[in-house]
Order: sequence, then C-alpha cells, then structure tokens
Amino acid sequence: MSTLPACPACTSDLTYEDGAGLYVCPECGHEWPVQADTAGEAAKVWRDASGNLLQDGDTVTVIKDLKLKGGGGTVKQGTKVKNIRLVEGDHDIDCKIDGFGAMSLKSEFVRKA
Ligand SMILES: [Zn+2]
Repeated sequence: MSTLPACPACTSDLTYEDGAGLYVCPECGHEWPVQADTAGEAAKVWRDASGNLLQDGDTVTVIKDLKLKGGGGTVKQGTKVKNIRLVEGDHDIDCKIDGFGAMSLKSEFVRKA
C-alpha cells in the first residue's frame, strides 16, 4: 500500500500515479514527479553485520578493531555503542563512543547488542 500525496496545485486527493514516475491530478491536470528520494527513504533499511535490522537508539557492539583516521586511536572490537543514530551515507551510523566522542561507523562493522 502506498499513500498518494494530495495535489500541490489544488489539494485534490484524487491523484494517481501514471506508472512513469509522475503523479497526475485529474481535477486540475497538474503533473509532478514522484520524488525519488522519498521512495528511497521508505525502502532504506539499516542492517548490522548479521543482517539484523537496526533502529535509532539501538545499542550495538563493534565487531572488529576500527582504526580512526588521523591517529585518533582504535575503537576495539567488542566496544559497546549506545544510542546510535542512523544516517544516509557511506558511514551510516552516527554515535558517541566513550573516550572517543562523536563519530561515524559503518553498519557492516557492528552487531546489534
Ligand atoms: Zn490538482
């Protein structure tokens, strides 16, 4: 089930998707593109190294030593990371690690605790 947006021109809710990436409003004839990033957001899921779904606020464990750039030390395997925040990008977890501060991790290097 997908929810169709109301027409931005006349706020009609009789809009439909024409199957070619456009929403169409039959009342005023307005056409506008289906936002690709909205669709991507709905489909995007974060999974840990074992394939478990991750959610904002989860606690995860680092599964391998992660060397920090710029000589910032190493986050050891087994380090617990609380209250993660999922973000878009190559490093898709924002978090704070005791002793290191705010940083970004890759979901493939953590496991849900
Ligand atoms: Zn309309």
